[in-house]
Amino acid sequence: MDINNIVKKGPLYSGKAKSIYEVDEDKVLIEFRDDITAGNGAKKDVKEGKGYLNALISSYLFKKLEENGVETHFIEYIEPNYMLAKRVEIIPIEVIVRNIAAGSLCRRYPFKEGEVLKRPIVQFDYKNDEYNDPMLNEDIAYNLGLATDEELKKMREIALKVNNILKKVFDDVGIDLVDFKIEIGRYKGKLVVADEISPDTMRLWDKETKDILDKDVFRKDLGDVIGKYKVVAKRLKLI
Ligand code: UDP
Repeated sequence: MDINNIVKKGPLYSGKAKSIYEVDEDKVLIEFRDDITAGNGAKKDVKEGKGYLNALISSYLFKKLEENGVETHFIEYIEPNYMLAKRVEIIPIEVIVRNIAAGSLCRRYPFKEGEVLKRPIVQFDYKNDEYNDPMLNEDIAYNLGLATDEELKKMREIALKVNNILKKVFDDVGIDLVDFKIEIGRYKGKLVVADEISPDTMRLWDKETKDILDKDVFRKDLGDVIGKYKVVAKRLKLI
């Protein structure tokens, strides 16, 4: 599909790095913008080409999930920086999976950065900027009315399945999947993986050099973030 054939009405929603447009009752158009933010919007910049790279990488990874039996909201990649997706009801929970200790895990607990975890950690954080995305447990999620126990159980299963698929995709191109965040939505009574899966939402380290290939380059001022996202896209043979 061509972006010019889609009528873009005003965005339904505009977040820190993506805008969502209504296409019809059942579909949305997701625009990946060049904006980059960190620390809940405290640090901001615009990096040319980021929207394109994230749309491309996200679309590819959603396709991989679908090929491996995980349902997602993905319909189609639309050049250069759009994705057509099913319109879902997003559950406001950031589902994080970790294979190697990094980031907030090391700030909050005595894990050493780079330590390979004995088994993956699945973590649910409440997607709520005002409260700084606090970590949830089942009882808190239930009492806040975010998801049922059955949904939470299924979300954990989906998260671990997604981890296995993505770990293999990156392993095959010499990259360690350190951790990632996904969002899950409700679609026609089912749970589907939604939102984005990109170097903005994953930690990716080169297996050999341990070079950082994700948004930490921006968060920690480590240099050319777009150059690193391009490395990821090149390894996946997308550019
Ligand atoms: N993450 C994300 N959005 C968030 C918080 C985290 O995409 O709002 C991703 C982040 O890029 C990393 C993983 O989730 O791949 C785990 O992040 P962590 O909890 O370590 O938080 P951070 O150190 O980024 O604050």
